[in-house]
Amino acid sequence: MSFLKEIQRRRTFGIISHPDAGKTTLTEKLLLFGGAIQEAGAVKSNKIKKGATSDFMEIERQRGISVATSVLAFEYNGIKVNILDTPGHKDFAEDTFRTLTAVDSVIVVIDVAKGVEEQTEKLVEVCRMRKIPMIVFINKLDREGKDAFDLLDEVEQKLGLSVTPLSFPIGMGYDFKGIYNIWEKNINLFSGDSRKNIEETIHVSDLSSDDLDTLIGEQSANELRDNLELVEGVYPEFNKDDYLNGNLQPVFFGSALNNFGVRELLDCFVEIAPKPRPKESEERLIKPDENKFTGFVFKIHANMDPNHRDRLAFIKIVSGTFERNKPYLHVRNNKKMKFSSPNAFFAEKKQIVDISYPGDIVGLHDTGNFKIGDTLTEGEQINYRGIPSFSPEHFRYINNADPLKSKQLYKGIDQLMDEGVAQLFTLELNGRKIIGTVGALQYEVIQYRLEHEYGAKCTYENLNVFKACWVDPEEVLTDEYKEFVRVKQRFLAKDKQNQLVFLADSAFSLQMTQQKYPSIKFHFTSEFN
Ligand code: GDP
Repeated sequence: MSFLKEIQRRRTFGIISHPDAGKTTLTEKLLLFGGAIQEAGAVKSNKIKKGATSDFMEIERQRGISVATSVLAFEYNGIKVNILDTPGHKDFAEDTFRTLTAVDSVIVVIDVAKGVEEQTEKLVEVCRMRKIPMIVFINKLDREGKDAFDLLDEVEQKLGLSVTPLSFPIGMGYDFKGIYNIWEKNINLFSGDSRKNIEETIHVSDLSSDDLDTLIGEQSANELRDNLELVEGVYPEFNKDDYLNGNLQPVFFGSALNNFGVRELLDCFVEIAPKPRPKESEERLIKPDENKFTGFVFKIHANMDPNHRDRLAFIKIVSGTFERNKPYLHVRNNKKMKFSSPNAFFAEKKQIVDISYPGDIVGLHDTGNFKIGDTLTEGEQINYRGIPSFSPEHFRYINNADPLKSKQLYKGIDQLMDEGVAQLFTLELNGRKIIGTVGALQYEVIQYRLEHEYGAKCTYENLNVFKACWVDPEEVLTDEYKEFVRVKQRFLAKDKQNQLVFLADSAFSLQMTQQKYPSIKFHFTSEFN
């Protein structure tokens, strides 16, 4: 197959949801359609189960599963689909944010009874800011839930989206009769049997025909007619360009567990979802069909086996082909590297591959050369735009508990930060080191890994910080800036990129500081250039 055809047929996306909405179940059904797995239950959920917070090894065991489920690839009707896994657990939200830099589109799963939940809001906000095309799947229609129109309203209001339903439920919960597919103009009847033959779709060319009444009963038929009329009157017609530009989000209804409405979602997805998209680098826009390979690291996974301490760096291929044993330039280190065993992913297995295409993900064994955000090329000096860090929610001083092992400690901290486990800040005043994390879980992870992988011991000390605010650098130092730096020295730190950060101790003090020094610009993510 030609290079261009290989690009055209790839769809790389992520599924995002609040935990328990049905992401794992949906992923599994999609894989079943692709024939990538034979039976339900084959995909392991990588979510961190409740109660695991106190049991560190259990967390790591569960997290270990996520290596296998990091990328799930399958073929469907000639299309190569790559699903990038996104942890739903809030403490690993940073992982998910970074993975979102490697997807070309997203499916958002929402629980029909719970509606829009907290974690969905945060993740969708990131996708919205980046204009990532999104399809919404409202799940668990076999259960009692919210009214479909109320849910669509909620999605629009809470998620700031502009939706148009491409399918519509007939009844719900106990009375769930099936789904009218607006996109394909047919009805799929629900039999409540998960072994149901999914080919049983009934074409409905004329909604006003009596056949509809025979099919689903007069009352349901009339209700459906009214609902569809309302849909047509209220929601914009689906337009692929609007979807691709992130301005319109189609909505599907279904039940992942019953494999209901999933085929409709998949068929529409492979038809409308974007093929690999061009990506901005600091120097220029890079198109997937350029001949020369470029790619970037969006995730690093440590091997938890203490005897094999190598890591797996995940590279998204942006342009050209990635080939085994070919030398590539690691731009930040200005070093040529060859990879003899790049891993590709198929269903839940990984295997060594000779060639990969734009949209694909390869896993490279790494002994500490890579950082999240690193660029690989065939020689061109380009740097893919950084992956933003958000302000952490927790801050603690990290202290060395074994003075003989300070070298190991600093090396360990350095490498763990490169992996993106947490963020490091160094206080301007006295050089003390502060670890910022999204979830309290990471402190345990860091402490354990420092000890077991680097032979270093650490303790933590609480620190009251409300938010890390990145300070816009000034070319020419104004008096106001100088005064700010002098007066607020106690609260100033440098991040790992040497950017200045103001660690505000409360919302109030942030507000006061901003009022006092109006010309100083604060940013709440590290990516503001
Ligand atoms: P995740 O946390 O988003 O990956 O959610 P899971 O896929 O693990 O699903 C959470 C729970 O919801 C599991 O017990 C599933 O069996 C259940 N579930 C998923 N889809 C459906 C559905 O369509 N209907 C019903 N009734 N339950 C579902």
